[in-house]
Amino acid sequence: VSATDHPGERRWPVLLVRALTLRCPNCGGRPIIRGWLHLADQCPRCGLRPQRGESDYFIGAYLVNLIAIELLFAGGLVAAIVATWPSPPWALLQAAALVLTVGGAVFCYPFTKLVWLAFDLSLRPLTARELEWHRQGAPDDATDLPQR
Ligand SMILES: [Zn+2]
Repeated sequence: VSATDHPGERRWPVLLVRALTLRCPNCGGRPIIRGWLHLADQCPRCGLRPQRGESDYFIGAYLVNLIAIELLFAGGLVAAIVATWPSPPWALLQAAALVLTVGGAVFCYPFTKLVWLAFDLSLRPLTARELEWHRQGAPDDATDLPQR
């Protein structure tokens, strides 16, 4: 396996840091997001299409988002109860939990999509052949699956 067979970063920490700083996990290029709730069609530097040609690709991103929100919720709840014990303000906590989970889901959205992409790239590294597909295809064409 030569370096050109996998034209991108494959080390998980590098991929993760790029995702968490809202850059292309593959090359570090930006902008890879369009607004807060949409990914760019392609990375402006390496040409990677964040969807990787799979229509159900971001089900994994929803899982990452759910986990992030649950951790945020559980951590915030425990911290608030411990800080206000023995008489936690239950009504306030209930309202805060709602704001935290809904707001947290929106806040985490682009991060979780890119973290999932980074995770996927670490497990299934980009091949030269797939990258060629990313660079040549029409940006909105998600039906023409790349050959791996
Ligand atoms: Zn890139």
